[in-house]
Amino acid sequence: MLSARTAQEKININIKKVLVSEEQIRARVKELGEQISRDYANKNPVLIGILKGSVFFLSDLMRALSIDCCIDFMSLASYSGEKSNGIVRLLLDLRETIEGRDVIIVEDIVDTGLTLSYLENILKTRNPRSLEICSLLDKPECRKISVKAKYVGFTIPNEFVVGYGLDLNEKYRNLPYIGVLKK
Ligand code: 5GP
Repeated sequence: MLSARTAQEKININIKKVLVSEEQIRARVKELGEQISRDYANKNPVLIGILKGSVFFLSDLMRALSIDCCIDFMSLASYSGEKSNGIVRLLLDLRETIEGRDVIIVEDIVDTGLTLSYLENILKTRNPRSLEICSLLDKPECRKISVKAKYVGFTIPNEFVVGYGLDLNEKYRNLPYIGVLKK
């Protein structure tokens, strides 16, 4: 049986370069946590994690907040392998109502913007008091529809990335950094 360390090294063989290191992620998540804590003082925001890619970002971000907050989840699909098929589907909806609440969508990456635009439209009809987006990564070069994330961890070039929750066919989510795969 492979030890955990050997298993991690085996995954690393497929990585061409590290785009955002574990240390950079940690530092930026702390900054975002401080900023959101200031902006949402006494508001008890609902953080909506978009499954599955945002799981590590959401759990680290939530622990970086010094204010009361709630958590809920949604799941959407538009990707198969490295390509978006452009058609967004809702796979899992919220458990709780967001009417009158301050809502922050927590996403792994904004690429074409189609997923978040679809999501924003759904959530706006539910009358939240406010609705903002916090995305770990932003690839502005790929935008097909305008989406404005108030909080962004890192702006990155147009490359397919994996790690820290982001996958390729369910692999590589457990890498502690954001990396680019070898071809
Ligand atoms: P959009 O709808 O903005 O094109 O894409 C949003 C979703 O596509 C993300 O939540 C993510 O699941 C997936 N995605 C977009 N770009 C990448 C990427 O570079 N790597 C990975 N692993 N997923 C991506």
